Amino acid sequence: MLRTIADVAEKYGAQAIKLTGATRMTIVGLKEEDIDGVWNDLQLDKGAAVGLCVRSVRACPGTTFCRLGKQDALGMGMALDKKYHSMELPGKFKMSVSGCHLACSESWVRDIGLIGQKEGWQMVIGGNVGAEPRIAQELVNGLDDQQVMTAIEKTIQYYIANANKGERLGKVINRLGLKPFQDALV
Ligand code: SF4
Repeated sequence: MLRTIADVAEKYGAQAIKLTGATRMTIVGLKEEDIDGVWNDLQLDKGAAVGLCVRSVRACPGTTFCRLGKQDALGMGMALDKKYHSMELPGKFKMSVSGCHLACSESWVRDIGLIGQKEGWQMVIGGNVGAEPRIAQELVNGLDDQQVMTAIEKTIQYYIANANKGERLGKVINRLGLKPFQDALV
C-alpha cells in the first residue's frame, strides 16, 4: 500500500505526503481534475476528511503490536471504520480506540473513545479538541466487543435524534446531560 501511495503521488506530481494528527495520510498538492484518477489508482474507497460525518477512526497498536495492550484496538478500530466512516451525522464526529488506559489514541478527546481494559472496553463520549476543547465522560465500562458495538450504535442513534445541525456530541451532553445517553443504552 505504501508503494502504491508513493507511485500515485509521483504520477500525479504531488508536493508532499503527510501523516495527519489523526494518523491519516494526505497526498498534498494534487490538481483538482486528477482527484478521481488518484482514487481510482489507489483502489480505495474515498475517504471522508471534511464535512458533517464520521471521520476515519484512529486506533493504536493495541494487543497486535504493543506489550501494554489489553484489547485489540486495531481490530476494533478497523471494524468501526468499516461500519461508520463517512456516515453523515448532525456534526463532525471522531472516534478513536486505545488498547489500554494510557489512551495513546487520545480517546478522551474524541466524540466516542474506547479504552481497552483487562475486563473489556471502557466507552467515553463527548470529547473533542479545537477552540473549545472538552474531555470526554465515561458512558459505560466492561463491555465485550459485541456489547460495545451495540452501545456505539445506540449512542449514535440518540445523537442523530437529538442534536441540532452542526452540534457536536459534547455540546449535546452540555445541553441535555449524560443521563439520556446512559438511558438510551438500556
Ligand atoms: S494505548 Fe496502550 S496499547 Fe495503545 S499504544 Fe498506548 S500503551 Fe500501547
